[in-house]
Amino acid sequence: MAPSLTPASAPSHRTAGVWSAPGRVNLIGEHTDYNGGLALPIALPQRTTATVRPRTDGVLHVTSTARRDETVVVALDEISPTAPGGWAAYVAGVFWALRKAGYAVPAADVHIASAVPVGAGLSSSAALECAVAAALSDLAGLDLLADDTGRARLADLCRVAENEIAGAPTGGMDQSAAMLCRPGHALRLDCRSGETTHIPFDLAAHGLTLLVIDTKAHHALVDGQYAARRHTCEASARTLGVDTLREVTPADLPAALDRLGEPVAQARVRHVVTEIARVDAFVDALRGADFTTAGLLMSASHASLRDDYEVSCAELDLAAATALREGALGARMTGGGFGGCCIALVERDRADAVGAAVVSAFRERGWRDPTPFTVTAARGAGRER
Ligand code: ADP
Ligand code: MG
Repeated sequence: MAPSLTPASAPSHRTAGVWSAPGRVNLIGEHTDYNGGLALPIALPQRTTATVRPRTDGVLHVTSTARRDETVVVALDEISPTAPGGWAAYVAGVFWALRKAGYAVPAADVHIASAVPVGAGLSSSAALECAVAAALSDLAGLDLLADDTGRARLADLCRVAENEIAGAPTGGMDQSAAMLCRPGHALRLDCRSGETTHIPFDLAAHGLTLLVIDTKAHHALVDGQYAARRHTCEASARTLGVDTLREVTPADLPAALDRLGEPVAQARVRHVVTEIARVDAFVDALRGADFTTAGLLMSASHASLRDDYEVSCAELDLAAATALREGALGARMTGGGFGGCCIALVERDRADAVGAAVVSAFRERGWRDPTPFTVTAARGAGRER
């Protein structure tokens, strides 16, 4: 018998594998997840892969092609909001959250490679977390990828990882999209009940496409603005005597605004309540193949985020306005705001012209070139090989 070349103490190679999870864009329903509201993301074709090989020494080693020189090392028992810190916290946090939930996950060598632009509002953070969570589900034999219930459980643990270890107070929309989305479908996410519904979203069948425009403008969710918006919503809910702003219906809105009195809180609440209503109006429009209405709802969402929620910026406003001027049916910022991406619903034959018009509008202002690209609704997290 040939001698084994692998010492008994070396990490197991048999169980190593590659898992991946997608970035996402949210079609409509922005800044609603942490208000118990509705959102409607699709998974992108762009994915983050995690190559994971279990280790027997209880120590996590993390590398990323996006952070070429760095191997971050942390013992599983030492993971905390300050260890390892930085980008590797998004990986370590998933190990921490699964262990805290009682799952016996092994330490591992984890290598990350990603086609999801980082910090562009396409949720590279959730793609990273969910690729790792998918790996751990398989490696620890948890079988949580088998159905939507298990996937929702993993998504929630990834949110916990991002909130508690990476220190970003995000809602659960990004992780749910990366875990649960299906090809050719948008995911209607009810963040109060946790209910998810797969809504057919096949623009090509109607001669349309979704254009994403990465404005390259700065986007940082781990900063005060997101937390400030969230705080205002929570304080307003308390003033109104409700658990979350989801309890406030459009019919209740005038009385609620009266009761709040204060103009900033009024504007924030008006955004949240009208935005939640726009999600189901958009779903109805999709079901009825009424893309004119769908486009108008997207543009109304942008105006609300710009004027009432005040999370847009000059680059997002210019991208959306230029897309509309060039014939888009609708356009809006997507993601947390303050930069990142704009999405536009366009006729397939117009996509290149709309993208080019946005690039030249940016050039006229001397701004960095934005990157336009079309996307289709792709699949959620899973094993690659
Ligand atoms: P978004 O999720 O919109 O891309 P975030 O600010 O939420 O933006 O998350 C970006 C952060 O996630 C990065 O600053 C980095 O810490 C981490 N991250 C995402 N993808 C990678 C990657 N491929 N390699 C290393 N870190 C990554
Ligand atoms: Mg993120």
